[in-house]
Amino acid sequence: MSDFQTLLYEQPAPGVARIVMNRPEARNAQNLAMSYDLNAAFDRALLDDGVKVIVLAAADPHFSSGHDLRGDGGVVLGEQPIVSSWGGFQQPGAHGRFAREQEIYLQNTRRWRNLAKPTIAAVQGRCIAGGLMLAWACDLIVASDDALFCDPVLTMGVCGVEWFVHPWELGARKAKEFLFTADHWSAQEAHRLGMVNQVVPRDQLQAAVLTLASRIAAKPAFALQMAKKAVNQTLDIMGQQSAVDQAFALHHLCHAHNMQEFGMVIDPAGMPAAVKR
Ligand code: ZN
Repeated sequence: MSDFQTLLYEQPAPGVARIVMNRPEARNAQNLAMSYDLNAAFDRALLDDGVKVIVLAAADPHFSSGHDLRGDGGVVLGEQPIVSSWGGFQQPGAHGRFAREQEIYLQNTRRWRNLAKPTIAAVQGRCIAGGLMLAWACDLIVASDDALFCDPVLTMGVCGVEWFVHPWELGARKAKEFLFTADHWSAQEAHRLGMVNQVVPRDQLQAAVLTLASRIAAKPAFALQMAKKAVNQTLDIMGQQSAVDQAFALHHLCHAHNMQEFGMVIDPAGMPAAVKR
């Protein structure tokens, strides 16, 4: 029943919707086509009263290599409905760049984080940069034992991905290590730090997530929504969303610096080999 270009939309069990990112040839890199497909798929699950839990999964072998730096997948920003309250996407300089990243990275991630139904990310293989944002936007993360997590953006001259919740996910000191080194951290380490709920063998990932989703789907829908909202609002009262916004501004200061220094928004010395080609 999928009519998405970049995703599969499934209902694998009563009360459970599963959105499967399906660009394995691009390691599930998130281009604009996928961003808006994700938004539409989340909306479908949200508005279907028969769905109580939403799983975000990915076609093998990798959860996501991050934002697709090689194109927008045929989408022109501003020519279709947007999710944010921003405009001016075609404006030159920081103006258009700031609006664009508000729309396609910050506000859509915030929207998915606040969906009024529990969400579970099923993460296998690599989960890099923008892939982390997708996993972090979900309420629970179940990882396969071979999953690897990395934010390599600092190597590219930017202070971290646009959805800057690293200190909340890892704790302040480990967040700095994660950012400064740009190392790949194992599922086991992410679990130890509280970023991941469960680690399971790779071949049992989808079954384990479905079991967890079905257990949650058996609970009262409104109480689930309120529990999610209560936890998220606790984080908000602690300042999480203001902290995300201030880090986003610093992220854009880095983009502006790189543009002035190198003529591009990232430091070319740290550009992934796949994009250099
Ligand atoms: Zn950016």
